[in-house]
Amino acid sequence: YPLNYFNLPLHYRNDLKSVLIPYGVVQDRIEALARRIFDDLHIGMPEQLICMCVLKGGYRFFSDLILKIQKDNRLRSDRSLPMSLEFIRTRSYVNDQSSDRLEIIGLSDLKTLKDKNLLIVEDIIDRGVTMATLKKEFEKFEPKTIRVASLITKRRKDKICVFKPDYCGFEIPDHFIVGYALDYNEYFRDLEHICILKESGITKYKVLLS
Ligand code: 5GP
Ligand code: MG
Ligand code: MG
Repeated sequence: YPLNYFNLPLHYRNDLKSVLIPYGVVQDRIEALARRIFDDLHIGMPEQLICMCVLKGGYRFFSDLILKIQKDNRLRSDRSLPMSLEFIRTRSYVNDQSSDRLEIIGLSDLKTLKDKNLLIVEDIIDRGVTMATLKKEFEKFEPKTIRVASLITKRRKDKICVFKPDYCGFEIPDHFIVGYALDYNEYFRDLEHICILKESGITKYKVLLS
């Protein structure tokens, strides 16, 4: 979508090429995903679904997804899905390139996941390395089930992706995107819509690697 259709913050307006997924579309799609997760993962009380937010990029998706499942919980009289919320942080990207060093922060703080149903909530899967690695780490805790919800997956030009999520909001072409908590060197998380960066924006916020 052209930029002039949207209210965009002044501080980013000149750094963006286009809006790829408007916030409202994201919300509609998450509503549908929440419904599917609710129907698939309905489990008898008091067994809980552990929802694992992968910070920082996943926090908006996580928050909206949980809210929509909670709404289903309020409105349905035949079933409900009890949840507990956990948080973990990963970091691999520098500039717009994923690196091979994946940091996982907070694993040791996790309460036991043994025999629990786990839903990992991630922002985006590109090469799939992050999620494949993370899932392996969680498997060591021996949960009963692990499912992965990713708001976005990329159709990479080189077609190399090693992970397919159980739930995916949007499949997008091979662009580097920002907004809705997705960052470029910690910028652009404070942008509502999911946008494509302009070359000048990429240059402006580039971090020089030593
Ligand atoms: P992967 O290991 O699948 O190559 O990379 C996954 C992680 O890299 C995501 O969790 C996300 O943090 C980051 N990432 C991948 N593609 C993009 C993108 O287009 N935009 C942003 N902001 N982050 C991305
Ligand atoms: Mg992520
Ligand atoms: Mg990032």
